[in-house]
Amino acid sequence: MSTHDPNCIFCKIIAGQIPSRKVYEDEDIFAFHDINPWAPVHFLMIPRVHLPSMAQLGPEHERVMGRIMTLAPRLALEQGCNPYPEGGFRIVCNNGAEGGQEVHHLHVHVMGGPRPWLRG
Ligand code: 5GP
Ligand code: ZN
Repeated sequence: MSTHDPNCIFCKIIAGQIPSRKVYEDEDIFAFHDINPWAPVHFLMIPRVHLPSMAQLGPEHERVMGRIMTLAPRLALEQGCNPYPEGGFRIVCNNGAEGGQEVHHLHVHVMGGPRPWLRG
């Protein structure tokens, strides 16, 4: 599995070849605001390694995926989500065509802020 796909828009965002509004970065993870937000707070968390979707995850990715999950609540608060339990946020990860995935670099949507953006 290649760690970088030169045709991938999210790999280009990580490399700075496409501008983005950065939320966070470290050696394994990059996070940036979604260009077309569905919620008052809406950012994407991605592994730096190019993985098309969760379907390609293996045991070697447990650390980075766990780190995304444990980091998300902190970043959500920093980006303006209100605290749990009155506030909170939603995490979505679309996989494959039937999962509604459009960009094929694994990404976790973090969405929050005052309702009524959220239904269901
Ligand atoms: P998916 O349907 O694949 O889960 O969602 C892809 C998300 O990436 C969409 O919410 C879309 O707005 C966002 N997106 C697509 N292209 C860009 C881009 O060039 N920059 C940023 N910041 N977000 C993007
Ligand atoms: Zn990529």
